[in-house]
Amino acid sequence: MTKLEQLYEGKAKKVFKTDDENLYIVDYKDDATAFNGEKKGTIAGKGVINNIMSNHMFQLLEKQGVPTHFVEQLSERETVVKKVSIVPLEVIIRNISAGSFAKRYGVNEGIVFEQPTIEFSYKNDDLGDPLINDYHAMALKLATADEIETIKKMAFKVNEVMKAYFDTLNVTLVDFKLEFGKTTDGTIILADEISPDTCRLWDKDTGEKLDKDRFRRDLGNVEEAYQEILRRLTGK
Ligand code: ADP
Ligand code: UDP
Repeated sequence: MTKLEQLYEGKAKKVFKTDDENLYIVDYKDDATAFNGEKKGTIAGKGVINNIMSNHMFQLLEKQGVPTHFVEQLSERETVVKKVSIVPLEVIIRNISAGSFAKRYGVNEGIVFEQPTIEFSYKNDDLGDPLINDYHAMALKLATADEIETIKKMAFKVNEVMKAYFDTLNVTLVDFKLEFGKTTDGTIILADEISPDTCRLWDKDTGEKLDKDRFRRDLGNVEEAYQEILRRLTGK
């Protein structure tokens, strides 16, 4: 596997071509942003943790029948993934009210829902990733009706697997964001990352936040929270 030219540098990762036209290499950075890039910083060691955690979650999900882009971890920060065309939707599942949901609807954080919710944001930095519904996504040709159905089913399945798994680690899975992509043959698979950057994770006993909210809200002990999640996942 040879790493070729960089295709893209995002806020948290770089993406490289490889000598295999169906594979990319992602390289996780320590850079952190919040509020559509208004707040910027670094979280020491985050790239390593997010790489290991994403790969850990993708392998768990594959075992439970969810297809993902994961191929092989190359180094602390680098992983080989299947090249996909990203469906430009941020798919957000919530089990408990928090963040933009609590703000938008004027409710407290911490309300446990009887059923998980799903919502989509249009992945478009210039527009600030606006909330979008299925019909808007179809009108904008971001995905077909069938693709949206597949994505919803997969996202709820991911939630069931992850919720049960985090429960065994004494962690409450509050909410998270997923991205899906299409392989060259049109199959929808789970892509991007699953990490404390993209999930809200609360300690089950104390409610302590073990995710990027520590950075967003200047709560301190940011690095420690990421390390604690890694420790619970891998014992290291
Ligand atoms: P952002 O683009 O939001 O700043 P990142 O820094 O995480 O986010 O950049 C990684 C980019 O790579 C994202 O745009 C993501 O959608 C894209 N991506 C993730 N997995 C794949 C994949 N398997 N194939 C192609 N692109 C991918
Ligand atoms: N999220 C994400 N990327 C985004 C927006 C949200 O990974 O661009 C995650 C976020 O970490 C949280 C969930 O999606 O776990 C729901 O986020 P919310 O809509 O509450 O937005 P926030 O207030 O976190 O920006």
